[in-house]
Amino acid sequence: MLRAAPSQRPQHAVAWHEDAPNPSSAATPPSEPLPTSVDWIVIGGGFSGLSAARRAAERGARVLLLEKGELRDGASSRNGGMVHVGFGASTNSIIKRFGADGAREWFDLSRAGVRRIQQLATAGPEGLTSSTGIDPNWSETGHLELARSTRSAADLHGEAELRESLGLPVRLLDRSAVQQLTNSSAFAGGLAVEEGGGVQPARLQAAMANAARAAGVEIRERTPATGIIQIAGGYEVRTPRGSIRTQHIFGGVNGYADRLFPALRRRAIPVGSFMIATEPLAPELLAQVSGNGEMRFDTRNFLSYWRPTPDGRIAFGGRTSFWPDSLDHIARLLTARMRASHPQLAHTNVTHAWGGRLSFAFDRLPRVARLGGVTHLSGCAGSGVALMTLLAEQTIDWELGGDPPLPARIPWHPVPVPYEGLPWFLPFAGIGFALEDWWNERGGTKSRG
Ligand SMILES: Cc1cc2nc3c(=O)[nH]c(=O)nc-3n(C[C@H](O)[C@H](O)[C@H](O)COP(=O)(O)OP(=O)(O)OC[C@H]3O[C@@H](n4cnc5c(N)ncnc54)[C@H](O)[C@@H]3O)c2cc1C
Repeated sequence: MLRAAPSQRPQHAVAWHEDAPNPSSAATPPSEPLPTSVDWIVIGGGFSGLSAARRAAERGARVLLLEKGELRDGASSRNGGMVHVGFGASTNSIIKRFGADGAREWFDLSRAGVRRIQQLATAGPEGLTSSTGIDPNWSETGHLELARSTRSAADLHGEAELRESLGLPVRLLDRSAVQQLTNSSAFAGGLAVEEGGGVQPARLQAAMANAARAAGVEIRERTPATGIIQIAGGYEVRTPRGSIRTQHIFGGVNGYADRLFPALRRRAIPVGSFMIATEPLAPELLAQVSGNGEMRFDTRNFLSYWRPTPDGRIAFGGRTSFWPDSLDHIARLLTARMRASHPQLAHTNVTHAWGGRLSFAFDRLPRVARLGGVTHLSGCAGSGVALMTLLAEQTIDWELGGDPPLPARIPWHPVPVPYEGLPWFLPFAGIGFALEDWWNERGGTKSRG
């Protein structure tokens, strides 16, 4: 007899947090007085803030990291944990803009970012497991890009050629190869990329927080930066707990930029992304739906991404529209998408739902820029897990006299419409994206039928 689809409402909680130590244990208790003067203030306690802070401390600086809420409030412990080569911008647009050699430089940066995470998340002299005792669960699986229509599958042929021209190895998969790999008939073709893999993001963030503290960084939670004033020889940063003098300020606020950063908010566009997680699956079912454990995403504008978790769940994420919506409704839409991709999960409970914010520049490439006294790293879109750590380290090295990181070498103009922080124009762009997705899939159905 068929069981009815479970209708239980998922709890609003991040599944990754249940399987990771809380990074707050690396923070100094709020009762301790703040220092009056340091060399660096780092604002934001995600991957970029923690990596920048650790790098500056390892280079001998006194560093204070200010986090507005708790360390795991930002995107860094809430994301898909996918560590892949690429950017929000398409390969084609990068080649058109920078030429083949310029594009190679961008992809070299991205590959170096992947390698840096791999180095930190695996055993080895640089690995965080041995120094912190927290294993970020690196899995070297590569990823699959999956086309939901024959039209999108045809586009993947062009994408494969472009990537090969840049020396990025990929493997094109036809419908039957994808069906064999995924045990699903929902996809018309795909692209397999062996480089990269996944981490448990909350475990990686907890390991990074512990490593930063061990390097000498003082981490303060519930201490927002609320004002920045230029003074002789540097800056004074105000917080509700007191003011601190500093020479340098690093901004790692990404999708959570508040009114303190008007120049950043005119340039970086914040967007929400959402995830659900199933209950832990029986090993046979997990093997059926997750194949070799690779990271997966589809080629829609409103894309979905999914993967198995180290504790045996399927974590499935995506964006369903740019209009404000309730988490319960988004979770229902994501659940329907997940079951359309893997009907084997029709009777599996979805136990968790959560969301977070990422950010992108208008051209969907990352940026490093000095704005209003703060050196900001922002805009890695859905590639921040691989990119933020390396770029944060390169940004500190630049501030201390090294070469500028690649994203600091391109201009960052304000978004070319009246805008500061609330992206009112996204729902309109979203209508175009949704229509394009519909058109692609309609075309796909037609030519299949
Ligand atoms: C649901 C979801 C799924 C994603 N999946 C992936 C993925 O699979 N792979 C991938 O590469 N990327 C993914 N991303 C993107 C990735 O998570 C981000 O690019 C990355 O975590 C950004 O790190 P960060 O340190 O720059 O910012 P965050 O981790 O967002 O941290 C910013 C911090 O700044 C703090 N802050 C803001 N203002 C202040 C202030 N005034 N004072 C003090 N603190 C302040 C905030 O409280 C916040 O904690 C995903 C994002 C989301 C939301």
